Amino acid sequence: MSAAVDGELTPKEREGFEKHIVKCPSCLSEFKEAQKTKSLIREKIVRFKAPQSLVNSVLKLTDSLF
Ligand SMILES: [Zn+2]
Repeated sequence: MSAAVDGELTPKEREGFEKHIVKCPSCLSEFKEAQKTKSLIREKIVRFKAPQSLVNSVLKLTDSLF
């Protein structure tokens, strides 16, 4: 799921994922929530001008949550 949120899927994986979420409302809403949370976190980090190493470790932490 986190790879999908980050757009890190291979084209084939992405195709399968998209085919699945259009038929699976629970995965679709999970995906949307994860995207929303991630972009909120990114926004907050950028606002505080955190060092890149901190940004990376926070993003790694959010990956483990999804
Ligand atoms: Zn599903």
